[in-house]
Amino acid sequence: MTNEDLWKEILRELELTVSKANFATWFQSTFIADQAEGKITIGTPSAFIKEWLEDKYQKDILRYLRARSPEVRSIEFKITSQSAAQPKKTVEPKSAEEQMDFRDIYTDRETNLNPRYAFDNFIVGTFNELAHASALSVIKNLGVLYNPLFIYGGVGLGKTHLMQAIGNKVKAENPNKKIYYVSAERFANELVAAIRNNETGFFKDKYRSYDVLVLDDIQFISSRGSSTQEEIFHTFNTMYQANKQIIFSSDRPPKSISNIEDRLRSRFEGGMIADITEPDYETRLAILQSKAAEKLEYRPSLEILEYIASTIQSNIRELEGSLNSIIIRSKIKKRHLDLNEVKEILTRNEKPKKILSAQQIIKKIALFYEVPEKYLFEKTRRKEVVKPRQIAMYLLREDFNGSFPYIGQKFGGRDHTTAIHAYSKITEDLKKDERLREELKIIRAQLYEEEKQ
Ligand code: ADP
Ligand code: MG
Repeated sequence: MTNEDLWKEILRELELTVSKANFATWFQSTFIADQAEGKITIGTPSAFIKEWLEDKYQKDILRYLRARSPEVRSIEFKITSQSAAQPKKTVEPKSAEEQMDFRDIYTDRETNLNPRYAFDNFIVGTFNELAHASALSVIKNLGVLYNPLFIYGGVGLGKTHLMQAIGNKVKAENPNKKIYYVSAERFANELVAAIRNNETGFFKDKYRSYDVLVLDDIQFISSRGSSTQEEIFHTFNTMYQANKQIIFSSDRPPKSISNIEDRLRSRFEGGMIADITEPDYETRLAILQSKAAEKLEYRPSLEILEYIASTIQSNIRELEGSLNSIIIRSKIKKRHLDLNEVKEILTRNEKPKKILSAQQIIKKIALFYEVPEKYLFEKTRRKEVVKPRQIAMYLLREDFNGSFPYIGQKFGGRDHTTAIHAYSKITEDLKKDERLREELKIIRAQLYEEEKQ
């Protein structure tokens, strides 16, 4: 049996035991990447999915595999995309969407940069011109003028795009320079592993060897302990002293990153700090026009782009997302959409508040965490029940404006203080727990996805 067939069979089994939404979330892009000497390596698209599979499904998967091939002794998960694992097999992309997905996940092996993030396709307006200008200066004066460059701004406003564009441009202009892009979370994980294995020297050497280090979402290190922060500080210091350029991004300015050591904060503040704010209507329209121009089919009319620009105000990722859903719909219908159809799609994409009942929400969350729903109403304090229960309470408050007494009462007549406690616990945890944030994102997607059908 080929790996592909084997995995298909395993997926078929898993599909029977998990909910449809969970199945799509966790298993969609998994595959058998390798099989050797009784060990099967399963490819997963992200660290988050990898961890989740390890925690929740490892045993089941191993069991199913052994039922089919008894020689399998262990399994292992790794982060990789199917295309990276099988470079020989070139599949014709079926649609523009697939091509786009591929571009999104593709990264250069050596630099970890994604070539689609360039200056050519980065629109500049008043909202990001300071960050853009600083980026250009950094490229001209690597390591000496603005070090570090610290770019901050809200979600989906182009931080990752801009900092990767710097990396790509430096690489194109100086093929001999070593550039490396990494998320702060992964950087910290690597460091922790190095400390554990007594390999900090190796870790430092590796980072010292880069001429340009691009560190994304540095706010995450506030969730790390002081010894990790200490090491991070030393690594940066070594790099500065050698005039290596460092570029940080963060969702907030250095002074608002809590729980970090003062000297780390002053390191962040020691170079250039540039913010990216929200684009105004004209800029949103310009961004949409430029993105639409890249599309091969069913490019929406100006009227429709104007409508999207005036409706979607929050961030650029959502602008792109709306444009894409309209084009996908056009492809399905094989014709252009009229304004009313577009309006309908965009309102459907909004968070439907209060349409779901508390019961439906609780049920979904129980399904997501795979705990029996009735446990959420009972008094049990088992960890695997407490967390989903608190998340359900949190969502009822946050997304549906439920009052605390109402929420307490929904959960088996608990006191309102229990609901308050759950709400503030999750609010606090979300600030420092990347994984929890991811979980909530998926839960919300599952809740509101379902609602659309
Ligand atoms: P952030 O890192 O700030 O959350 P991203 O860099 O991931 O945001 O940007 C979200 C999406 O919007 C990406 O697809 C990116 O290419 C696009 N984007 C962001 N800023 C711009 C811009 N100024 N011009 C064109 N596309 C942009
Ligand atoms: Mg980003």
